[in-house]
Amino acid sequence: MPTYARADLMFERGHGAYLVAANGEEYLDFCSGVAVTGLGHAHPHLVEALTAQINKVWHTSNLFRIEGQERLAARLVAATFADTVFFCNSGAEAIECAVKVARKYQSASGRPERYRILTFEGAFHGRTLATLAAGRQEKHLKGFGPVVEGFDQVAWGDAAAARQAIGPETAAILVEPVQGEGGVHLPPDRFLANLRTLADQNGLLLLYDEVQTGMGRCGHLFAYQHFGVAPDVLAVAKGLGGGFPIGACLATEKAAVGMTAGSHGSTFGGNPLAVAAANAVLDVMLAEGFFAHVRAMNTLLLKRLGEVARRYQGVIAEVRGLGLLVGIKCVGANGDLADALRRRHVLTALAGDNVVRFLPPLIVEESHIDRAIAALEGACAELAKV
Ligand SMILES: *Cc1c(COP(=O)(O)O)cnc(C)c1O
Repeated sequence: MPTYARADLMFERGHGAYLVAANGEEYLDFCSGVAVTGLGHAHPHLVEALTAQINKVWHTSNLFRIEGQERLAARLVAATFADTVFFCNSGAEAIECAVKVARKYQSASGRPERYRILTFEGAFHGRTLATLAAGRQEKHLKGFGPVVEGFDQVAWGDAAAARQAIGPETAAILVEPVQGEGGVHLPPDRFLANLRTLADQNGLLLLYDEVQTGMGRCGHLFAYQHFGVAPDVLAVAKGLGGGFPIGACLATEKAAVGMTAGSHGSTFGGNPLAVAAANAVLDVMLAEGFFAHVRAMNTLLLKRLGEVARRYQGVIAEVRGLGLLVGIKCVGANGDLADALRRRHVLTALAGDNVVRFLPPLIVEESHIDRAIAALEGACAELAKV
């Protein structure tokens, strides 16, 4: 179906931070399949791990134990606030699971009337009917019939508005620690801490959507570790499999109290191939110094982008970001800047609020940043003329 306004470009292979088109032309990939290929393309460790698993077993279903899945769950638990993990195949499914965990928690705790989820303007939580209702973007909901019941929304960054909106039916607060699709919005000071307090005072669960911010993107395994405020439930997907589809919903034992045998399921979720990919990703990310590298590249990238922005104030309105989730807010149309960059063989992703996202692979080096900045300068010079 023609559901995408695709660029007329097709890639045959990739290596590291580069994608190679059929005609042999190389593109610097600062899109990373929308924050998915965090280790770049054809990473030797991922290739080796997937190749080994392909020759063993691909899929058995969750009717049986899966060694790699148990190992992956144990590693995610050891590295985070969580005690338990459910595996699925995408971000939207991970959010659906988080919403189900929250509703089930309330009902299992003797408060079945609590089912509503509080979300924030500008949020993006996925494209299923419930996650669309959570995001509440008019352009995504239009024409798809009645909006799934049970989601309320208040202004981004406004903890006081969130407090006001909590009612006797509220079950949980769902928030992206940094809004990605909405335009790379960092939370105001103490926002997440205030939400944590609100949740605790009102018997609500705090759910983080780390589908985009997780898996090292923001300079820690998960962005909440930067802010120092843990959730009760966390959804992750995008970067988890390094390009292989896999999602997960992490929770505390307490939050997942209602998730008993038969309460949720997925045919493909956490199958042997998917968890082989995710375990290989963790092998690389959990090695000494990986996240420090991401943070060092963040400092460098923001500094260099800031220099370009100061020279081209007629093109770039603002630069902001955490880790390697970086947004360039444009003065003219963001699509024009992205097109100008693509003509210079640099791939980026658009976001809301007229933003172009730079989402380099986390293995990015200074030389890649030099190249992206040179392309950006060229693009800005071109756009400043018109
Ligand atoms: C991409 C994204 C989703 C949806 O993930 P899919 O895998 O496309 O279902 C949900 N939340 C956030 C924050 C995302 O960036």
